[in-house]
Amino acid sequence: MLADRLKTLAPSSTLAVQAKAKELRARGVDVISFGAGEPDFDTPQRIKDAAIQAMQRGQTKYTEVGGIPELRAAVCAKLRRDNGLDYEPADVLVSVGAKHTLFNAVVALVNPGDEVLVPSPFWVSYPEQVRLVGGVPVEVETREETGFDLDPERLRAAVTARTRLIVVNSPNNPTGAVFSRPALEAVAALAVERNLWLVADECYESLTFEGRHVSLAAFGDEVKARTLVVNTCSKAYAMTGWRIGYAAGPRPLIRAMTDVQSQVTSNPSSIAQWAAVEALSGPQDEVAKMAGDFDRRRRLIVAGLTALPGVRCVTPKGAFYAFPNVSALFGRVWRRAEGAVTLASSLDVAAFFLEEARVAVVPGRDFGSDAHVRLSYATSDALITEGLRRVGEALARLG
Ligand code: PMP
Ligand code: GLU
Repeated sequence: MLADRLKTLAPSSTLAVQAKAKELRARGVDVISFGAGEPDFDTPQRIKDAAIQAMQRGQTKYTEVGGIPELRAAVCAKLRRDNGLDYEPADVLVSVGAKHTLFNAVVALVNPGDEVLVPSPFWVSYPEQVRLVGGVPVEVETREETGFDLDPERLRAAVTARTRLIVVNSPNNPTGAVFSRPALEAVAALAVERNLWLVADECYESLTFEGRHVSLAAFGDEVKARTLVVNTCSKAYAMTGWRIGYAAGPRPLIRAMTDVQSQVTSNPSSIAQWAAVEALSGPQDEVAKMAGDFDRRRRLIVAGLTALPGVRCVTPKGAFYAFPNVSALFGRVWRRAEGAVTLASSLDVAAFFLEEARVAVVPGRDFGSDAHVRLSYATSDALITEGLRRVGEALARLG
């Protein structure tokens, strides 16, 4: 009945875990969710006010496909202010969230059979988007021992004549790695040498707690000419529901992505675009304040996870995820009413946490590593403490 491409499509598991936790809560089950990566803060008032004013001014009609000129100018100013990058509004495309931006990019860049290097663990949507357009995602492992830093040598070894692009996501979802400058430089040099595109997903830039965020496109004109910089208002401004993501890059690529968007969604919401102008151009103090709160929660969750028997956790340097290794729990017996289960995968561990501790986490398998689970700590200190207490209690009951 359905197209062949649906045979391999996995729906987004991060969103699925969030939906499952919501559904359980609606049924009266008291679930603590570390599922979706979504700030628990409210969108700052100045941003909401800008949206209300836009509506009152009647800015409620179609806009330019690639975004209103004011927003594209605000993106350019942001990239100059925060990243030292020079772009003109014609080099910018605004889309319905960075997820949409990334999909426009693979539609514009990837031919059927082309290979896309995806450092692993990876955010769930990269490989699926590549497969949807007939491309081949190639997972290239990063190692826990290096704090999941980008591994230029492994990437080099994975390049073939079919390789089109490398996805570079720092700060990283799900590992929290902030890739080191030498590793980023080596990968940029590899892209120049082998004539590859670089997609720099910088959605968690504002949540860099250790190390320094470096934008790939800042490594000089040769690198910039093959880099698409991707960012979003979702995380920095607690604007996940507004759906505003953006990209800057070489003009022919931006034009191609805009043409794709013109046939698929047209412009993102006019109202959300005006809100985004205020988000990017107004005072930035809430961003630092929210980042400070996330940093405190990061320390809290890592200390709590590390104290659990059978769990070890690399300290994330950015984003708002902890990615603990739970493989020491494999082989332990979960005595369930329906029969005993020997834990053997991240899916089992996630199911055990949900049923026995009423704590929702995302299995690492969906991010490319079955030894791990992912917890989003974009939630309150009290819920982090209580969630980990429940997990500790459940672990004490394991055989
Ligand atoms: N990139 C990464 C690494 C993400 O985790 C997400 C999900 N929040 C996105 C892109 C897309 O975010 P949005 O579509 O909300 O802009
Ligand atoms: N990116 C967030 C996450 O990884 C939100 C859900 C999604 O877009 O996948 O949880």
